[in-house]
Amino acid sequence: MKNKLFSLITLICLSLQAQDKLSLDYYLPQNISYNKDIPKPADIIGHEVGQWHVTHDKLVYYMQALAKASDRITIENRGKTFEDRPLLLLTITSPKNQQNISQIQKNHLAISTKEGNNIDISNMPIVVYQGFSIHGNEPSGSNAALAYAYYLAAAEGPEIESILNNSVILLDPSFNPDGLQRFAYWANMHKSDNLNPDGNDREYREVWPGGRTNHYWFDMNRDWLPVQLPESRARIITFHNWMPNILTDHHEMGTNSTFFFQPGEPSRVHPLTPKINQELTAEIGTYHSKALDKIGSLYYSEEDYDDYYYGKGSTFPDLNGSIGILFEQGSSRGHIQESDNGILTFPFTIRNQFATALSTIEAGQAMRVKILKYQQQFYKDAVLEAEKNKSKSIIFGDNKDAAKAWHLAEILERQKIKFNSLSNDATVNGKNFKKENSYVVPLNQRNIRLIKAMFEKRTTFIDSLFYDISAWTFPLAFNVDYEEVNSFGNIGSEISSLAPLKGSIGEKTNYAYLFEWHEYYTPKALNAILNKGIRVKVGKTPFTLDGKSYDYGTIMIPVQNQDIDATALHTFLSTIAQKSTIDIISVGTGHTVGIDLGSGGFETLKKQEVALLVGNGMNSYDAGEIWHLFDQRYDIKLTKLDADYFSKTTLDRYTAIIIPNTNGGLDKAGAEKLKTWVKNGGTVIGYLGASEWLNKNEFIDLKFKKDTLVANNISFEQKEKFFGAQVTGGAIFDSKIDRSHPINFGYKNNHLPLFRDSNIFIEPNKNSFNNPIQYTNDPLLSGYIAEEKLKLLKNSVPFQVQSLGKGTVVIFTDNTNFRAFWYGTNKLLMNAIFFGKMM
Ligand SMILES: [Zn+2]
Repeated sequence: MKNKLFSLITLICLSLQAQDKLSLDYYLPQNISYNKDIPKPADIIGHEVGQWHVTHDKLVYYMQALAKASDRITIENRGKTFEDRPLLLLTITSPKNQQNISQIQKNHLAISTKEGNNIDISNMPIVVYQGFSIHGNEPSGSNAALAYAYYLAAAEGPEIESILNNSVILLDPSFNPDGLQRFAYWANMHKSDNLNPDGNDREYREVWPGGRTNHYWFDMNRDWLPVQLPESRARIITFHNWMPNILTDHHEMGTNSTFFFQPGEPSRVHPLTPKINQELTAEIGTYHSKALDKIGSLYYSEEDYDDYYYGKGSTFPDLNGSIGILFEQGSSRGHIQESDNGILTFPFTIRNQFATALSTIEAGQAMRVKILKYQQQFYKDAVLEAEKNKSKSIIFGDNKDAAKAWHLAEILERQKIKFNSLSNDATVNGKNFKKENSYVVPLNQRNIRLIKAMFEKRTTFIDSLFYDISAWTFPLAFNVDYEEVNSFGNIGSEISSLAPLKGSIGEKTNYAYLFEWHEYYTPKALNAILNKGIRVKVGKTPFTLDGKSYDYGTIMIPVQNQDIDATALHTFLSTIAQKSTIDIISVGTGHTVGIDLGSGGFETLKKQEVALLVGNGMNSYDAGEIWHLFDQRYDIKLTKLDADYFSKTTLDRYTAIIIPNTNGGLDKAGAEKLKTWVKNGGTVIGYLGASEWLNKNEFIDLKFKKDTLVANNISFEQKEKFFGAQVTGGAIFDSKIDRSHPINFGYKNNHLPLFRDSNIFIEPNKNSFNNPIQYTNDPLLSGYIAEEKLKLLKNSVPFQVQSLGKGTVVIFTDNTNFRAFWYGTNKLLMNAIFFGKMM
């Protein structure tokens, strides 16, 4: 024991000393010379790599200085994060290649086209895209990028020169600048002069929401396919502009882990990924093994992580003729931490990332021709596949909602998928497609595999475990109508760039303005109108006026008796129509077929003041999605109310309070306070775990369905898989909706696909009118769910609303705002906010 303690102390002293004397040499290959004219990181950022956590601004200064000093490097800024940080990309290759870079790029892009099927690739450089720390609190990647970029700029000798002659390296030093900055600030502000590896130190216990995510708390390593965030947009443009052969994604995992590199779990590779992709990944892996063996670092492969969901950085490339590689380093989280593998220092974690960044380009150079050929073959096969589908197209649209269909088309555009307009209105299998709101995607194109991955429904799987979601079928997420068509005669011209959405308004009237509720951005319009103090009503039933039919939830703005006159109202509403890209219709009469405009069938709406519970106990992803929805999509002010100061907050000003998915809810006093507020007329909206909390605290009376799962013939070894298979990690299910209920205003179909990543099942209410959204008897549309759980899901209800005193309690068992790309269910939350009082 004494001995052990002594060696532990020695080890700590050694590692502490190591950090005191930390030098760049710790990371760099030592048998070569370095160009003295290239600034070292410490020359620019004022500290050694690994001594402090680099802040993003310092990272930027260094990369700019390197680009200035080295003729191997060019630098570009590809946009801004939500917090206005630049999204940098360094292009690194030999000075000779730099002079010829656009030709190299052009030749390289040809490989993945039909025309480039047979071009000679033997002398072309390989393109390697290396990206770091997409999770901001996994900082060893971005900190390694400092040393690595220095190495690429300054290393001398035949080895590096050969690599640079044969490679174009796209270096993205920080995939997540806002998260990196947030985490660096946390780790640095808690650093002691006497480094303390005690994992209990505050340095290693970040406060909510932590640095993993971006500004709106999104996990950006799920957005490579949906591309909803600015950081992803920049990355995807770079990807398609270069079609890299290898893309690496440097992460961190738990402190007690070692180092992981792909390939991952063999049975969990998406079937659209060719087998040879995994073989090449494994061959590249031999270079990582060698590099890590050399510095004595432990590692593993072919376990834990998978290659299934194409929205991840290491899996997305596999769908595009490239090879995506995930690295995971056991995290020191701050500067130094005790772990099962001894004292884990921050510099040690950086060195492993450096070593594998380098082994990646060594593998790239050695396997260059093989990997370029793989890419060529991938697109040769894809083109053949496309030609077999030459007469087939997918048509999608929403004849009541131009914006939703447009935003789906926007993803296609970002992913360089070709699509066309619809030349005439069409009806396919009973679905009506309006030409202004519809798009046609011909399958005969090189990106056929991307299209398949986005549009297919899949319900059978080899494995029952998933690292992430098992389904993401985009037309279901957008709730658009879609059909695959054969020899379709109505294909219009190709859309090379989407024209921006537009709104319109009729002539000035002295009577009333109307707009239906179906368009995606109607809540934005309604909120702006209410904020202006204008009286607005909503129609509870459909009606017809001037020969045009208006659906449930039509918004009506009378002209008379407003605070502004008819001219000012028209001007104001025309701005609203443009900003919200909706069509506002002016009418000169209140006489309709159905409810007249003065009828009690129109209910007056109130200005909303909404708060969202955030902080400890609340799921930060779910909370962030809601914040993003309000702020970025609908321009609605949202108060982020921290659960920690809830008890000290006066709630009177709020009309609605949202509780995102939570594992804790509020404390007893908080619950009582919230209940009093609801009883006085507030609307509380709880998601997922919050529905259980609201039930437990007697805000609402729900009956949950539970299964009695017992393991039969399951060995201890199989235990984890047995429980893992019961997880509903993310799949899509069919619900039947009652369109006359205010929660469903703005939905034109009787069915609505819902995203679900929970195992919360609620019995339907005994009165059918209280079940306006109900899972069908055969609800699985796409993705994986255990049989036992599917049984529970059938005919259960994901939504309930009940009164409490003068107030309203609303619950959703499912996330209607998932990852900013589930446009199809965003309106449910808006309906709960604006129409909650009518339910
Ligand atoms: Zn990560």
